Amino acid sequence: MAERSWHERSLEEALTQPALRAGLRRALGAGPLCDRCLGRLCAAVDSGLSNERRGQAIRRALDAAPPGKSCWLCGGLFFDVDAWVSRALAALEGWEFDTFLVASHTDPKIEDRENVLHELAGDHLAEPYKQEFNREVGARLCDATGAEPDFTHPDIVVIADHARGSVAAEVRPLFVSGRYRKLVRGIPQCRWAAWPSSVQQIIGDVVCEAAQGEDHLFHGCGREDVDVRCLGERPFVLEVVRPRRRRLDWAAIADRINHSGAVEVLDLGRCGADDVARIKMLRPDKTYRALVRLDDPVGPPCSERLAGLVGRIRQRTPTRVLRRRPDRVRWRQVRSIVWRQLDCRTLEMEVRTEAGLYVKELVSGDGGRTQPNVAGVLGADAECAELDVLAVHTEEPTATEKPQSSSATE
Ligand SMILES: [Zn+2]
Repeated sequence: MAERSWHERSLEEALTQPALRAGLRRALGAGPLCDRCLGRLCAAVDSGLSNERRGQAIRRALDAAPPGKSCWLCGGLFFDVDAWVSRALAALEGWEFDTFLVASHTDPKIEDRENVLHELAGDHLAEPYKQEFNREVGARLCDATGAEPDFTHPDIVVIADHARGSVAAEVRPLFVSGRYRKLVRGIPQCRWAAWPSSVQQIIGDVVCEAAQGEDHLFHGCGREDVDVRCLGERPFVLEVVRPRRRRLDWAAIADRINHSGAVEVLDLGRCGADDVARIKMLRPDKTYRALVRLDDPVGPPCSERLAGLVGRIRQRTPTRVLRRRPDRVRWRQVRSIVWRQLDCRTLEMEVRTEAGLYVKELVSGDGGRTQPNVAGVLGADAECAELDVLAVHTEEPTATEKPQSSSATE
């Protein structure tokens, strides 16, 4: 006959076992125990019962005296749950949250006594006291606040310090996702002392004010240079530190940001902490528009050679970023190029590239560090006079696409 697990058995059935009964008698003989602390020794048996009910059933089965007004194990901690719930509610006052978690700094003295009890009675069916405490206070807070428990990413963690008798609230960040467009040149993506404004500040200051947060952090799916516009939509996650409000009017916030004229946001809303890592993992292709200025005049038959740039290029870390990036060689795909000649010294190119390709250096060649390059194939010094990100291709697969190139002349 298959052995049933402990939590499927009734406590009455389990309590017919002499070894278990003997262990529980030793526990009761060591000093007065409350029903919860007694019942917790059989926490794994009969999942439908509370530890308090288990304790009562154990006393009946062993013909033991009813519990007194003290407990040598918890020292009255479990008589005092109302007071702990009140302290928790006071710590939560003024913070808006939808999910929470109760955690405990345990009292080492209670843990020592719990170890003694487990040696007397055995611990194979027991659960730690803090587990019951957290569950009990958590259930009461659920009822009192209407918030849901969340064991992985709670909005707020209630931390009870059993030795000190205090409760603190640890407020987790508010994560906000969206996509942004940067409509002007001359602002960096992230807050930067050398610049008066940034995409981060234009978005983050508005969200942070609405959430009554203390600060914000910005996580972009890649980033464009200060002098580059991002007309395509770039995903981001904003992290608001210690927000007092979380249920925000996203449409009103987006309106205020879009009113800046410099940055626009789309699909603004709450997201999870996991989304930071998710958008950092994305390596989407980008499509750029580059305005290319040439030192020497170049005519259409010559510019046809630009088609030869489609394919794999070899790029050493650009000179301009060498101070903050290691010097190494990357191989990156140019997926497609279309261009039109504006005059004999000016070209407008639309280039689709793999993530991580430096387009300014694809144009100039960066002293031979990027090969091949626009200047090289045209036989004239070339520089990227203007650059825009036209699209961040987060939704499309890239592996199966065929390289292509074409020219358009007006
Ligand atoms: Zn107790």
